[in-house]
Amino acid sequence: MSITTPAMIINGTEISAQIREELKKEVAELKAKYGIVPGLATVLVGANPASVSYVTGKEKAAIALGIYSDRRDLPETTTQKELMDLVLTLNNDPQINGILVQIPLPKHLDETEVLLAINPKKDVDGFHPMNLGKMMVGEPDFLPCTPAGIQQLLIRSGIETDGAHVVVIGRSNIVGKPNANIMLQKKHGANSTVTICHTGTRDISHFTRDADIIIVAAGRPKALTADMVKPGVVVIDVGVNRVGMSSSGKAILVGDVDYEPVKEKARAITPVPGGVGPMTITMLMVNTVKAAKMAAGLA
Ligand code: NAP
Repeated sequence: MSITTPAMIINGTEISAQIREELKKEVAELKAKYGIVPGLATVLVGANPASVSYVTGKEKAAIALGIYSDRRDLPETTTQKELMDLVLTLNNDPQINGILVQIPLPKHLDETEVLLAINPKKDVDGFHPMNLGKMMVGEPDFLPCTPAGIQQLLIRSGIETDGAHVVVIGRSNIVGKPNANIMLQKKHGANSTVTICHTGTRDISHFTRDADIIIVAAGRPKALTADMVKPGVVVIDVGVNRVGMSSSGKAILVGDVDYEPVKEKARAITPVPGGVGPMTITMLMVNTVKAAKMAAGLA
């Protein structure tokens, strides 16, 4: 009879709370020693319910840590020029260290032009090509928040990444590609052999069955099933899929992983919700504090 050890459930809520506790102390120290209060501007165009809830979460997190929050809610009819003017104003505002423009923007606005206009030293989302380039050469100012959060989950859960085969499913510019890049750096919490899979990959199972760690960011329920993994695998589920409404009118969310059967084979796994999700906002706060330190010549 074989005895299997239950999978460790990687608790993103707890790890996120640990990091926020550390940050709160750092913010208090910056104020006490140097009179510095990091500032984060959040820009929301329109009233997409998911975007409103993300921006509100970011604003609340900033305030709870002692970060100055400047929230700008703009109407759906905002023009490109008005939005660009606001970005330029925030670029020049010394109270603001981080600028976050919530995406997606309404269809009539050019996201790329807005992103390129943000001062890279205030690009706390880490999406500006300058910051993506710095990440690629291993000298980042800001890492994109979701992949950086995933790396923290692995490090703080004691998962060995050095020499591990990491398979990333998904190649988006905000999760898949930067995540793969972060894991291949010759650094602590990385130094892995990385494979990236996507819809053009011929036989994804061929790669996932060999993986020590699988990061799934496909945006499809059950993109990873139990027959695709080897026993003892570590699984990070980035997906957030709305699959219906509860009787109380709340969205029912699932990840990209067929959770229960995969958990039976895994050594460690993140749940949805409560895994990767809480880490994204936390890493935005980490980046904002770093931006303030950089502006003051302290980092
Ligand atoms: P995205 O831009 O839609 O990219 C999805 C990627 O997955 C694409 O590269 C696509 O391949 C690939 N893909 C889709 N279905 C696949 C399949 N069956 N097998 C293999 N590859 C597949 O999505 P994203 O922005 O990266 O986000 C991914 C998921 O993570 C979404 O559910 C999103 O809501 C969630 N997310 C969560 C957080 C968080 O904080 N928890 C943050 C960001 C995103 P092609 O390139 O070939 O089309």
